[in-house]
Amino acid sequence: MPKKSASNAKATKAKKAKSGPARAVKKAPKLKPPRPWTPEEVREAFSRFQKANPEPKGELEHLNPFTLLVAVVLSAPATDAGVNRATPALFAVADTPQKMLALGDEKLRDYIRTIGLYRTKAKNVIALSEKLIRDFGGEVPRTRAEIESLPGAGRKTANVVLNMAYGEHTMAVDTHVFRVGNRTGLAPGKTPLEVELGLERVIPSEFMLHAHHWLILHGRYTCLARKPRCEVCLINDLCRWPEKTV
Ligand code: SF4
Repeated sequence: MPKKSASNAKATKAKKAKSGPARAVKKAPKLKPPRPWTPEEVREAFSRFQKANPEPKGELEHLNPFTLLVAVVLSAPATDAGVNRATPALFAVADTPQKMLALGDEKLRDYIRTIGLYRTKAKNVIALSEKLIRDFGGEVPRTRAEIESLPGAGRKTANVVLNMAYGEHTMAVDTHVFRVGNRTGLAPGKTPLEVELGLERVIPSEFMLHAHHWLILHGRYTCLARKPRCEVCLINDLCRWPEKTV
């Protein structure tokens, strides 16, 4: 009876596998997740950031919400310093969507050709200027969905513009904030969105206006990617990173 013999064979195979020589399979050690920060610790960390730098400023040069939007679109991926080298001359001739359109794609490219992906970025800046005039009366809109609808603008752009131009309590997660959120254990996450939502959950509202800049500056100048300067870090006693050097 074929059915029976098939099941017998299966059982024998299973038995063999069970009783065969035990193989030493080494499991990777499970890393213990860091102990979450207490609300008091988070408050203490941000009080220290605040005391050290009460009015932190973003480093992207701009003149108004429109030029801020353009600078952020130009900055991904590029350094703020690289964008700042190109934009003062550009913004001197084109600080509104109307002037940007009048300048045109070709001349705009001349201003920004030192920035990576400048052709695509020039196209986006012209297209977003057109859309601002057509759909938003020439103004930078004030909602995340509307800003994200502009060519070249994503969630991070919307968060930066809403925070810096309109004082909203948003948390833009760039490479620095992502690293600091994870290393410190403040808001561990696999994606920028997870870190963003985690930070928004733990940071008290009174610190949220400046929290984005404190964390960016902390990542840019202290919690460096390769060689974090733990010895001068303001929050080294609170940080949960197992590899911190203090
Ligand atoms: S202690 Fe070191 S790893 Fe932790 S936040 Fe400070 S600089 Fe970064």
